[in-house]
Amino acid sequence: MASSQSSTETDWVSRFADDVIAESERRAPGKPVVVASGLSPSGPIHLGNLREVMTPHLVADEIRRRGYTVRHLISWDDYDRYRKVPNGVEGVDDSWQEHIGKPLTSVPAPAGSAYPNWAEHFKAAMTRALDELGVEYDGISQTQQYLAGTYREQILHAMRHRADIDAVLDRYRTKKDGAAGGKKPQQKKVDEAELEAAEGSGAASEDDGSSNAAGYFPYKPYCGNCEKDLTVVTSYDDDSTELNYTCSACGFAETVRLSEFNRGKLVWKVDWPMRWAYEGVIFEPSGVDHSSPGSSFVVGGQIVREVFDGVQPIGPMYAFVGISGMAKMSSSKGGVPTPADALKIMEAPLLRWLYARRKPNQSFKIAFDQEIQRLYDEWDSLARKVADGTVLPADAAAYARAIGTAAGELPSTPRPLPYRTLASVADITAGAEDQTLRILSELDPENPLTSLDEARPRLDRAESWISTQVPAEARTVVRQEPDKELLGSLDDKGRESLRLLLDGLETHWSLDGLTTLVYGVPKVLEGLEPDARPTPELKVAQRSFFALLYRLLVSRDTGPRLPTLLLAVGADRVRTLLGG
Ligand SMILES: [Zn+2]
Repeated sequence: MASSQSSTETDWVSRFADDVIAESERRAPGKPVVVASGLSPSGPIHLGNLREVMTPHLVADEIRRRGYTVRHLISWDDYDRYRKVPNGVEGVDDSWQEHIGKPLTSVPAPAGSAYPNWAEHFKAAMTRALDELGVEYDGISQTQQYLAGTYREQILHAMRHRADIDAVLDRYRTKKDGAAGGKKPQQKKVDEAELEAAEGSGAASEDDGSSNAAGYFPYKPYCGNCEKDLTVVTSYDDDSTELNYTCSACGFAETVRLSEFNRGKLVWKVDWPMRWAYEGVIFEPSGVDHSSPGSSFVVGGQIVREVFDGVQPIGPMYAFVGISGMAKMSSSKGGVPTPADALKIMEAPLLRWLYARRKPNQSFKIAFDQEIQRLYDEWDSLARKVADGTVLPADAAAYARAIGTAAGELPSTPRPLPYRTLASVADITAGAEDQTLRILSELDPENPLTSLDEARPRLDRAESWISTQVPAEARTVVRQEPDKELLGSLDDKGRESLRLLLDGLETHWSLDGLTTLVYGVPKVLEGLEPDARPTPELKVAQRSFFALLYRLLVSRDTGPRLPTLLLAVGADRVRTLLGG
């Protein structure tokens, strides 16, 4: 590490940036630094796969902040074969089975899509999410690259050296069972199990090509008749580049010349290292389940060196990103949460922060359940520490990486009211704007909110979370009429507690004021001062007082925090429901 940079080594991103800059200057002095990600638009792109992009993005962004030029390549692996029809995708039925084996860009888009094909349809959703996240990248369509003949020299080279490639692959073939092949972790792991069930054998060799009587070939044509990749190369001549293949799906056979033929691709385990060499990739992470012997990253390291005279990128393995509590109701995409789904319930900086604050080898979960409220509390507390200067250096670095990029700050909420408060208000008002503004402006009467725009976009995210992720039975429904039976059954102490609360409403009508009031009523009732320290007995009294209020207001034992609930219900209705 250069000593001049040691002061910037505050977090994992800085440390990788140091290594990547040093390696880039060694390998390609004066050239832009190249980092890469690969995404397969084989269906909805899972939120877990966002780590494939965010890891190099954060490193690239740090390098840009230091004044270097960086290219972050996102390879859209849209010339990969269509492996299976994903479940539960709107506008798709079993008839898509007939397209299995074609390039993803040759498969029709789901019915009703505005996009020309399958790959473009699923790329579009991801592209929008990446824009919102502030990810700057060069997208490369592998369909375009292959069809344009961009890799012609590399393909001819690989075919000339097919015996060398076969020898490298052969070192691992006996250990193949443990190797999951591709580098797209969550997606491919699932794919392969289902793939084997769906298609039997044949596809297992798809990642590294297969040998037949004519030998081993690292290249596979898509059939000139049916477009599928169920082709078998029957001969190849290095001098003329003449290649014969037959299609086992439709029986079509053809002779082509690889010096001019473009409708085919290198097998995955050769394709990936070829592109490392072609693009000069310095940094490209991959899923942690691909560190095993025989995995494409390990094999690729040997192929890039021995066949393409290149260097393997710095390639940390990243750990799994899980999801907690994605509600069924929002699974219009077959229960697969996408980055777009996450951005509906949380702001882009928060999502960036989840990736920035954890080292790639640490797994974490993205909360779609109640946990999102605690996460937002933590985020707000971090922002306060940044503002008052008490933040630790690593936390400050993660915060800075979350709120913006080298290009500038991302959009933020001018008045970031607590997410849990916004969620409670959205819960109670069901999104009614006038009521929402009334409640939010009463939270802090000294400095009232004057327009909902001040609370946006966070307010919109909280409303979306309530309406798409919180099940109906967990929603709060404020009573229309007082619970006369319960009110009539109260003893003197119960009635007195309600009277104390109602008497204090007018003078305590703010979030802070009502907090003091609801905690204070049980103290006064026990003959204590309103600011007395809580005793175990007092805590019991407070709990039963709160439960009484919840039952009278929302017919349940719990609910949103009481001060928020009281503000949301409104003073008049509180009086009615509490029998005042
Ligand atoms: Zn065919």
